[in-house]
Amino acid sequence: MSKTPFISKEQAEEIIKKFPTPFHIYDEKGIRENARKLYEAFAWNKGFREYFAVKATPTPAILRILKEEGCGTDCSSMSELVMSERCGFRSPEIMFSSNDTPPEEFRYAKEIGAIINLDDITHIDVLEKTCGIPETVCCRYNPGGTFSISTTIMDNPGDAKYGMTRPQIMEAYKTLRDKGAKKFGLHAFLASNTVSNEYYPTLAGILFELAADIKKETGISLSFINLSGGVGVPYTPDKEPNDIMVIGEGVRREFERVLVPAGLGDIAIFTELGRYMLAPYGHLVTTAIHEKHIHKEYIGVDACAVNLMRPAMYGAYHHITVLGKENAPCDHTYDITGSLCENNDKFAIDRKLPKIDRGDILVIHDTGAHGFAMGYNYNGKLKSAELLLREDGSVVEIRRAETIEDYFATLDGYWDVI
Ligand SMILES: *Cc1c(COP(=O)(O)O)cnc(C)c1O
Repeated sequence: MSKTPFISKEQAEEIIKKFPTPFHIYDEKGIRENARKLYEAFAWNKGFREYFAVKATPTPAILRILKEEGCGTDCSSMSELVMSERCGFRSPEIMFSSNDTPPEEFRYAKEIGAIINLDDITHIDVLEKTCGIPETVCCRYNPGGTFSISTTIMDNPGDAKYGMTRPQIMEAYKTLRDKGAKKFGLHAFLASNTVSNEYYPTLAGILFELAADIKKETGISLSFINLSGGVGVPYTPDKEPNDIMVIGEGVRREFERVLVPAGLGDIAIFTELGRYMLAPYGHLVTTAIHEKHIHKEYIGVDACAVNLMRPAMYGAYHHITVLGKENAPCDHTYDITGSLCENNDKFAIDRKLPKIDRGDILVIHDTGAHGFAMGYNYNGKLKSAELLLREDGSVVEIRRAETIEDYFATLDGYWDVI
């Protein structure tokens, strides 16, 4: 089982002449086609909008591509709000789904017309005192317990810090209405990286029934329901990817079953996908610079966990292709390591791969979301460049690599303070 990179060895060698490894590269064609398919899957809902989760890939060129495809942004911090604004997103194209929110971020979000999604009932008060209650407002729901699809436990909302309980959310809508809000939304994120066509339909069923109960108990008819993120991608090559058409149809089935009979057939469906929109359309490209034979076989590459944290942080699997050796037998077992002074800085452990020689170019797959974005500067390591493979085959730099001077920028004026 394998995954096919969207660049060939020859392309990679050309790119590297201008942009040395390591770098992240994104596939514009893949991003656009996937976004169009999402919109097609939800075309039955006339208010549908995808609010791309900026935290997954906070890069203006990517946001602009998604904007052209009709997406808005989902933000949860000041920088993400400012980036959305600077990329040209305007009300109602910005969602602010934050938690533990600093009051000044509520103020800025309201100023730019972002739809504020309240994570907690106590935030109503903070919002009112900070900047007043906006006309449109959303509430985040947490049903507690475990979240299951048939008999499989998918995640554990009861342990999650997000959202309001059912009694709280009922109370919240009434309070918000009494304080002048006019349009209401409902949001929940109950399971992460689901590779199952039933996640969204199951979640939709829960939220649609709650919407019907909200109408019964408070008289409020919601305007939109935000299914948030959580539709995942298969990181391992043996897994079947989600079928977004089946997912869209499953949500429609629930919509017809619950919302239409409740007189709520005008509700707009929103999504806040990150991973699903971008992960498969990004590669981390890195060069093998060392091989080491001790108690195990190691290949040292020029990227490290600073460029992609998921393996170190979650033990996450990312498939690796050795360019030019796609058809060679995987008859070697390697740990693929970065250079951090942390033994978890490994992109792969005991991975079956073809024989790797120094100078080989490795593609680490599915790094387009939560990849570059999670970068940090441990060991004084610098963040890489980001490149975009355009639809015409050309490559443009969309973020330059960090320099040592960038790393030192916050020390300007402090070298001799003591
Ligand atoms: C992280 C996040 C998302 C996106 O999640 P994915 O798993 O990337 O789809 C969407 N909404 C909120 C509020 C989030 O925190």
